Amino acid sequence: MEDCIFCQIASKKMPSKVVYEDENILAFQDINPQAPVHILAIPKEHYSSLNEIPQSKKDILSHILLKCRQIAEQQGIGQKGYRIVLNTGKNSGQDVFHIHFHVLGGRKMTWPPG
Ligand code: 5GP
Ligand code: ZN
Repeated sequence: MEDCIFCQIASKKMPSKVVYEDENILAFQDINPQAPVHILAIPKEHYSSLNEIPQSKKDILSHILLKCRQIAEQQGIGQKGYRIVLNTGKNSGQDVFHIHFHVLGGRKMTWPPG
């Protein structure tokens, strides 16, 4: 997906501040943070949203989610609390159509979300 910015970040054609990487996933600082800690975690393989993940790839979801937990711990927000957001589709506010988990923390979150 040449025109996908997160594919470009995953392949290092575009720079990002990486906080975690393995063979299958990349986590990096959000360019426009909405909290003191705001990390995005993505699969390196392109899927436009949760809706496009096939059953055969379900393991990538648990892998990313547990890495989000590890990242939160490493960022020092694991115990006080953090929020993981997975926007899916236009009504959710999804802007970048390469699936990504937001890891947000370092301040008190409000509910309901906007
Ligand atoms: P969405 O609204 O799709 O759930 O979230 C997209 C997120 O990607 C936003 O928080 C936005 O700040 C972030 N973002 C958009 N473009 C870039 C970029 O080029 N680099 C990084 N690091 N983050 C980006
Ligand atoms: Zn992509």
